[in-house]
Amino acid sequence: MKRIAIVNQKGGVGKTTTAVNLAAFLAAHRRVLLVDLDPQANASSGLGINGAKGVYTLLIGDEEPHSLLVPISPQFDLLPANSDLVGANVELGDQPGRLREALSALEDRHDLILIDAPPSLGPLTLNALVAAEGLIVPVQAEYYALEGIANLLRTVDEVRAAWNPTLRLLGVLITMFDPRTLLSQQVEANLRAHLKDQVFWTVIPRNVRLAEAPSYAQPIALYAPTSSGAHAYRRLAEEVLRRVQEA
Ligand code: ADP
Ligand code: MG
Repeated sequence: MKRIAIVNQKGGVGKTTTAVNLAAFLAAHRRVLLVDLDPQANASSGLGINGAKGVYTLLIGDEEPHSLLVPISPQFDLLPANSDLVGANVELGDQPGRLREALSALEDRHDLILIDAPPSLGPLTLNALVAAEGLIVPVQAEYYALEGIANLLRTVDEVRAAWNPTLRLLGVLITMFDPRTLLSQQVEANLRAHLKDQVFWTVIPRNVRLAEAPSYAQPIALYAPTSSGAHAYRRLAEEVLRRVQEA
């Protein structure tokens, strides 16, 4: 398993935070490419890359694909997004396999490709689902977490049947967990009861350092390496590697 999409049609659940920080920790072990597939380009700006050509040009243009990559740290490259990507939603409407095809030109230099999807089930997310072999679904520890996932998993089943038989759920990731609240504990128990070992053992706590790091253009591994958020994403990277190897 090489291509992993981070998806949830809901915004603000921790997709981008997970994409950036997981990619940074995975880069200690593997050559990682992070693809920013959200027109809001939060993953790119959170790593200090603003307005650069990137995934839109890869999808629509005819430039040499490797020239679009931005090196972030050793073994960690970014394929950035900018607001041009809004237009891709129209252009990709009837081409769910476009990203998959485009990424095949980039696969040789990386062991793992993470795709940060936008908060919708539109053409860009569909392209992510068709391109991916594995999915990470971040969910915020709050009411209705399970209902939102049920919807998404139905879409995943449809994509699997129509376009991508190899697509599988790598894991659901509980984010912004607050151990002091009963609500967080109930949501975790509920998710584990229903989804069993499809839920990652690692839980991401609510940690203000994670929210601050993007404004310093750094992943948590650099900004606050001993914070609870850093520990959690470091553990998640190890768990993801185990699951990828077992897949
Ligand atoms: P998404 O990509 O799903 O829209 P983000 O990763 O951008 O979600 O997160 C939404 C907001 O919550 C951002 O401001 C982010 O900094 C913050 N955030 C995400 N995860 C955490 C966390 N574990 N603790 C504290 N703040 C977080
Ligand atoms: Mg995001």
